[in-house]
Amino acid sequence: KGEGYLSIIVFGASGDLAKKKIFPAIFSLYCQGFLPHDKVQIFGYARSALTNNDLRDQLSRYLHVRAKAQPMTSSLPHAERFLSLITYISGPYNVEEGYQKLEQVIVHHEMLRAGKDGQTGRLFYLALPPSVYLQVGRNIKAYCMNTRGWNRVVLEKPFGKDLDSSNQLSSELGGLFAEEQIYRIDHYLGKEAVQNLLVLRFSNRIIQPLWSRDHVDNVQIVFKEDFGTEGRGGYFDEYGIVRDVIQNHLVQVLCLIAMEKPASLSPECIRDEKLKVLKCVEGIRHSEVVLGQYDGYLDDPTVPKGSNTPTFASIVLRICNERWDGVPFIIKAGKALDRRKGQRRGRNEFVIRLQPAEAMYMKFTVKRPGLDMSTTQSEMDLSFLQRYKGIVIPEAYERLFLDIMRGDQKHFVRRDELETSFG
Ligand code: NAP
Repeated sequence: KGEGYLSIIVFGASGDLAKKKIFPAIFSLYCQGFLPHDKVQIFGYARSALTNNDLRDQLSRYLHVRAKAQPMTSSLPHAERFLSLITYISGPYNVEEGYQKLEQVIVHHEMLRAGKDGQTGRLFYLALPPSVYLQVGRNIKAYCMNTRGWNRVVLEKPFGKDLDSSNQLSSELGGLFAEEQIYRIDHYLGKEAVQNLLVLRFSNRIIQPLWSRDHVDNVQIVFKEDFGTEGRGGYFDEYGIVRDVIQNHLVQVLCLIAMEKPASLSPECIRDEKLKVLKCVEGIRHSEVVLGQYDGYLDDPTVPKGSNTPTFASIVLRICNERWDGVPFIIKAGKALDRRKGQRRGRNEFVIRLQPAEAMYMKFTVKRPGLDMSTTQSEMDLSFLQRYKGIVIPEAYERLFLDIMRGDQKHFVRRDELETSFG
């Protein structure tokens, strides 16, 4: 808390992600004292012709919702004070004038607040379609770099569509910024239950010996949404369920489930271990892939006519190493599915639910209470909201934003990890 002066620059400030996730996450950190009022300034940049007040009005609706979850932040003056820190700058992404104006405004505030010699940092958040990442990156590099403190650039997935496009993006961005300056967000890595995986696996002696091919029959990583594209079919159709959910979010979860114990909790040690898992994944067998599309997908007017993009996929990944050889990792993801899950009897299942309500439970066969000796399946249940009453679980974006401010890349995807996950 309270180290140096920070400029946060949100590109694409007029967009959905910025309004619904990024500004509310910054607001929550502000309310908790991680961003002292006199040590931070926030800049929104986009093409839309908005005034400061327009943007603040748009954002205030979402800050209110967030504040409700945290009673300590519920006072309106708090939100107003926060909004007063936000300056909106309108400009194109491909023309230098916009960036020169942005630089002037940032420097003006830095001089006022940090003085000539104060420590400063700049956090550039690209809440934009990937098609403009490079032009924005080049212009930041040319006109907006902080010369007396750190610069960090945050990117949203997708980081490319396939191995070639991803490598091209990585190498062009790599020509502009050092890897330590690039934060590739996969917001799954900010989820409470995902972060819990490492603690669960490596801090419990009862779990450690069970976590291998000797005791595990299969691992299933399942993502189900009970709604379809809902007007966002244009974006989705270009990527499909495999690129939108499996290649990034679910593969990241797979790495955390399968990796060996890292030498330390440092970002590089953790990411080294995840990378080793990815390198051991065998080629996918065609016979172990199922693709599908839900009925009604083509009725969404934003979906191109006749599209055969999959909205469901089930893929078996096999990790060829000593721990996991022979254990299928069954990855399933689908939109517009019902959420009910089939139950199989007579097995010990260990379930980690990442969303909607975080929980871990282990299924056991036990004796049914009563005079006879019949059995039933029961659960040892750790449902977070019941166990930790009154605790507000931080939003993934909030936690990851704090990591970026602290310069901790542990929960961000490294370039070699990204490349191997496409490979
Ligand atoms: P968005 O609303 O479509 O775009 C954000 C802003 O970028 C828009 O307000 C628009 O601002 C500008 N923009 C849109 N299309 C553009 C184009 N073709 N060329 C130049 N500028 C354009 O996107 P979003 O939902 O906020 O998402 C932003 C990024 O986060 C994307 O990369 C997305 O894949 C990723 N993401 C989003 C979510 C989510 O929940 N929404 C989740 C995960 C990842 P101006 O026109 O005012 O410049």
